[in-house]
Amino acid sequence: MTRLIIIGPPGSGKGTQAEHIAAHFNVPAISTGDIFRSNVREQTQLGDEATRFLDRGEFVPDDVTNAMVRERLADADANGGFLLDGYPRNTSQVEALDAMLAESGNHIDGVVLLLVDDDELTARMLNRAREQGRSDDTAEVIRRRLELYRTETAPVVDLYSERGIVADVDGSGTPAEVTDRAVAAVERLLER
Ligand code: ADP
Repeated sequence: MTRLIIIGPPGSGKGTQAEHIAAHFNVPAISTGDIFRSNVREQTQLGDEATRFLDRGEFVPDDVTNAMVRERLADADANGGFLLDGYPRNTSQVEALDAMLAESGNHIDGVVLLLVDDDELTARMLNRAREQGRSDDTAEVIRRRLELYRTETAPVVDLYSERGIVADVDGSGTPAEVTDRAVAAVERLLER
């Protein structure tokens, strides 16, 4: 059973790495950002609730996000483990996730922390805005997302660090190099 989380600032390549790392460990990559975006596209009720937060780079309210993750983790494919991408994003979501997993006697086994410096992050996101046209990749919204990462998500890393389950991974280089580093780091964590 491999229950993993990937954490990294916006623009760190977290989504790409999540897919590759999850494939290696044969678990689904569950991206809250992707789930929100597809609900916005399909104009579901959840999408209608989330869209104004996404467009401004703000977090979707915890009750909405936690309920969505709880439902997703109940799907059969997540029984044997998962890699969460984009969740938990603040300390209250950590508590909610702990409680969800504890109901079935489970816990998080490892956290991949992707490290990329700020100039590189902004450059990557502006580039992605040109290529993919993500509505939240504008300079002002990017600034807000980076700020929320520092104020809200960095404390999440501290909580997991206290449990000794965080693997720092250098996010520079080619995507394949980063995946190799991340997989090796997670394997070291799981062996202990
Ligand atoms: P990135 O990390 O590159 O900014 P994501 O795809 O992870 O992008 O998230 C995009 C947006 O989706 C966030 O800015 C936020 O509005 C929303 N979102 C994703 N995950 C969460 C979460 N765990 N809690 C609240 N909002 C979230």
